[in-house]
Amino acid sequence: MQNPPRKVLLNPGPSTTTNSVKWAQVMPDICPREKEFSVLLCGICSDILRIVHAPERDFACVLFSGSGTLNIDTCLNSLLDTGKKVLILRNGVFSARAQEICSYYGLPHVVVDAPWDAVPDTRCIEQALQADSSIGLVYCTHHETGTGLLNPVRRIGELAHRYSAISVVDTTSSFALLPIDVVADHIDFCMSSSQKGLAGPCGLSFIIGRRSIIEQSAAYPKRSYYCNLFRQYDFFRNSGEMHFTPPVQTAYATAQALAEFFAEGERPKLARIQRIMAALRRGADGLGLRVLVPPEAQAGLVLCVRYPDDPR
Ligand SMILES: *Cc1c(COP(=O)(O)O)cnc(C)c1O
Repeated sequence: MQNPPRKVLLNPGPSTTTNSVKWAQVMPDICPREKEFSVLLCGICSDILRIVHAPERDFACVLFSGSGTLNIDTCLNSLLDTGKKVLILRNGVFSARAQEICSYYGLPHVVVDAPWDAVPDTRCIEQALQADSSIGLVYCTHHETGTGLLNPVRRIGELAHRYSAISVVDTTSSFALLPIDVVADHIDFCMSSSQKGLAGPCGLSFIIGRRSIIEQSAAYPKRSYYCNLFRQYDFFRNSGEMHFTPPVQTAYATAQALAEFFAEGERPKLARIQRIMAALRRGADGLGLRVLVPPEAQAGLVLCVRYPDDPR
């Protein structure tokens, strides 16, 4: 069979995929309760943990079928004990979504608003933590994909830990693109999906989190049946299977995408992205387009330009 034609997508995800990733989806049918499939999933989890330098002793990777928003939903609904509040740094469309999820579940939360186009002043976060000792979870987005803004997650994680809260970071669009080290970055939970920086097909999402906190959360209120972190973690730990039907073909192709990530390497991949971004910036400059986020606040993954008010 022929390779499908190569397309260029100008959206920040789903990403384009290599032919080898596309073809990896074409596999003999398999019952996902087979041992062979369990071995595949366990390998995927180990590889995902390696990408964020998470020691397997302390961190687990929990897989779900679904897109990235499922991870945000799951972390928020599963990791808050009774009497505790979420603090959300809201400075982009994805952290605004996290706030909406809190409202849907009726989770007590505090919002720290910050401009969508500047490095946030983390003193506002510290003040909110000082003002309310019931904050148990600090939430932010690493790379706000709508604007290309980068948040100082290490500093935010440090603050969360200093005030005895856990740090949850939406790394959906930075995972496997920007180097992340969960221990050094004070991240207790982060997340992504197969179709973003890994450049796999759509449909497999994953949360990377501290085992001790997941295990503690077994006693927290259960607010969702399908999207509960402890239940999914516990089922996989005991059986090596995802609780509900996994995206089988996507799993095979994700394993291939992970192999291609390690073959290229974290630093060379970043260097490649930086070269592409430099070309985009030159192009935007050449056309006289104005970039929204100032260079010091950009993640260097998405270039967001102001819509020109030139009638042409
Ligand atoms: C893509 C993305 C998500 C998830 O969006 P879905 O449409 O559910 O895949 C979440 N957070 C960020 C930062 C993203 O870029």
